[in-house]
Amino acid sequence: MGRLDGKVAVVTGGASGIGEATVRRFFAEGASVAFCDRDGARGNRLATELRMATELKPTATGATVAFTQADVGTEDACLAFVNGAAQQFGRLDILVNNAGIRKYEKIDEASAASWNEILNVNLMSYAFCAKAAVPLMRQNKGGAIVNVASVRSVVAGGGNLQYDTTKAAIAGLTRALAADHSPEGIRVNAVGPGPIFTPFHERRIAAAGETVEQYNAQAARGTMLKRPGRPEEVAAAILFLASDDASYVTGALLFVDGGMTAM
Ligand code: NAD
Repeated sequence: MGRLDGKVAVVTGGASGIGEATVRRFFAEGASVAFCDRDGARGNRLATELRMATELKPTATGATVAFTQADVGTEDACLAFVNGAAQQFGRLDILVNNAGIRKYEKIDEASAASWNEILNVNLMSYAFCAKAAVPLMRQNKGGAIVNVASVRSVVAGGGNLQYDTTKAAIAGLTRALAADHSPEGIRVNAVGPGPIFTPFHERRIAAAGETVEQYNAQAARGTMLKRPGRPEEVAAAILFLASDDASYVTGALLFVDGGMTAM
């Protein structure tokens, strides 16, 4: 028995890092998973790999996986992705809002276009995917939404002005959605990852001319567990919040940060 047998889940930004680990874990737990990403090559590769594994060893529940290449930076794209997935699989139980981008601009460098880009991806896509998901979940008399926030929802490290702003807003969006929709059985929660080594960091380290050892040392200084986290460790927390194990959890922000925010 998988923990998500018979459920249908959608994941944004599912081709890499935390999103990819979530797609893999949800699928392994029996869910049919539709995921989108703007990176078509990476998304198609993951979907093909999971489908091939199913052909070799069919899942007991007939769970399957579907990938859509989409940029969630517009309302239309968000509505089309979530509604399309529900149409394909016949229902919707779980939404994971995960897609996120970073910028490294200070207040006097950030243009309106730059602010809009990051607000649209990191914040508005979470709202618009929820806008599509809530009526679909209402049809099943319940569901679960998990938003990927950050330690940056509550602390600032400097140099991430727009990112930190959006991650704090996701914490507020999570509470507001939970207040409005928990009475109809739709639980809304967030995870707050700390330093998780993903392609996101590989790119940042390369751009800054740093080494993985330097990144690991920084994560060791900043966490109680003295190491960076793995995407699978965040996916495990997302799974908990999305599953019936979290049946009395709503409006929460669960940090998966090696103790960073508690330090
Ligand atoms: P990642 O870059 O490895 O994966 C993000 C994925 O989202 C990529 O596949 C990317 O193509 C996709 N994406 C980005 N913009 C998109 C768009 N407009 N439309 C569709 N897809 C889009 O990064 P990650 O580290 O796995 O980050 C995932 C989430 O976790 C983000 O919301 C990030 O802010 C959050 N987070 C990460 C960390 C960390 O340390 N890695 C810490 C805290 C929060």
